[in-house]
Amino acid sequence: MTAGIVSGRLRRWLAAAALFVAAPGLAAASPVAWLQTYLSFDTSTPPGGELPAVRYLAALIERHDPRGEIDVRILVSPDGRANLYARLPANAVEAAGHSLVLLHHVDVVPAGEGWRRAPFGGELHRGRIWGRGALDAKSLGIAHLEAMLHLLDSELPRRRDLVFLASADEEAGGESGVGWLLEEHGELFEDAEAVLNEAGVNRMAGDRLLWWGIETAQKQVLWLRVTAAGRGGHGSGFNPASPTHRLLRALNRVLDLEHAWRVTPASHQAYRALAALRPGEFADVFDRPLEVVQAELDRRRREGRLDRILLPGMSASFRDTVQITRIDNGAGPVNVAPGEATALVDARLLPDTDVEGFRRRVETALGSGIHAEELLRSGGSPVSSTSSDVYRTLERVLGVRAPVGPTMIAGTTDSRFFRRLGVDAYGFSPFTLSADDAGGIHGVDERIPVEGFLRGCEMMKRVVAALVLADREPAPASAAAGQGEP
Ligand SMILES: [Zn+2]
Repeated sequence: MTAGIVSGRLRRWLAAAALFVAAPGLAAASPVAWLQTYLSFDTSTPPGGELPAVRYLAALIERHDPRGEIDVRILVSPDGRANLYARLPANAVEAAGHSLVLLHHVDVVPAGEGWRRAPFGGELHRGRIWGRGALDAKSLGIAHLEAMLHLLDSELPRRRDLVFLASADEEAGGESGVGWLLEEHGELFEDAEAVLNEAGVNRMAGDRLLWWGIETAQKQVLWLRVTAAGRGGHGSGFNPASPTHRLLRALNRVLDLEHAWRVTPASHQAYRALAALRPGEFADVFDRPLEVVQAELDRRRREGRLDRILLPGMSASFRDTVQITRIDNGAGPVNVAPGEATALVDARLLPDTDVEGFRRRVETALGSGIHAEELLRSGGSPVSSTSSDVYRTLERVLGVRAPVGPTMIAGTTDSRFFRRLGVDAYGFSPFTLSADDAGGIHGVDERIPVEGFLRGCEMMKRVVAALVLADREPAPASAAAGQGEP
């Protein structure tokens, strides 16, 4: 497949593409049917194979845009990965000249074994829509799509362009998706003011929403494959330098590396916002300037009193982490020492950690004769603003239901590509699901409750309308976080 724009205006060739007209869910107006059909495309990365799913989304847009207001393009990378770009232009006299990008990824991680329903069946079963991507991230894509189409029905003028972007390759690092799009088709995003993407982290207590977590920052990912090779032999011999023994000692040295506890602007922003919801000791520590928080954490660590203020999972926000996630020295019998042993190392670094320096430290700890191969390096990205017009609007609209706060995630998403260009990107999920329903991401039995899905679609519509339509002004910049006005 050659790179570039497969089709500018899709209308012409879609007319001839009877296949898509016959696709189930195309004629239906229900986002549930759309999601079911979207889930039935196997877009597992690798190889992704996004094109049929992308064509389906394009056809949906064309069908629900009778006046042809939306410019739809399918953009295929040199390695054959299809992305969908659809732009609905502003039509207000006082249009801002900026666009808002609604981003989700089309590809999914492989389904694996052990599902109770078909992973690419798009089945509706017991009030839930089942399938790989039901949470990550096809439901978000349908919510974005519906929010865009909803604007077509509005009487109100649009003051921002709206870009619906369905990207390829996110699960494998995004280089053939958003990375490639920004590199080769940067002109399409030149006016991008902000991006709404996956990775919002909404805090629940059972079915109750405690607060909306808007992801504004993420850690860096560094994945290594570490290999020791050398003399194996019979298990009965004396061989302290066997590859397996050397690998284990080397990994131990890596695990023993000290990592400083560091309060970064990202974690400071996140926990200061949370402090408003957690008065008492937590707020006493975190509702302070960054340097003060740092000094207080250092003091408590020395005194062994850190546990009192750390919520589950919080430690990783303040330090680089290393996990050995796999050790492999073959499948030989107990009395054979193999000639090679490998391990996979998953390191997550704070947004501003010098990754090159970190890698050197790991290699020094591994020692000579142990080879470290880099599998993925996501690179750093700046923190997105919580005082932008878009963030304030999220606070205002979502704040009606629950407080809103920024969060940092330990994973990585396509948002980092935009942030590096200086475009604010916000991880926002409109779905508020119980831990049980949210548990299928990257696991078996991924599914979303119909009711929660539809409620999320409604919330996304409200958010996008507030961001795009002209008569709804953003809250004044002085509005306090999480207060929210109706
Ligand atoms: Zn995802």
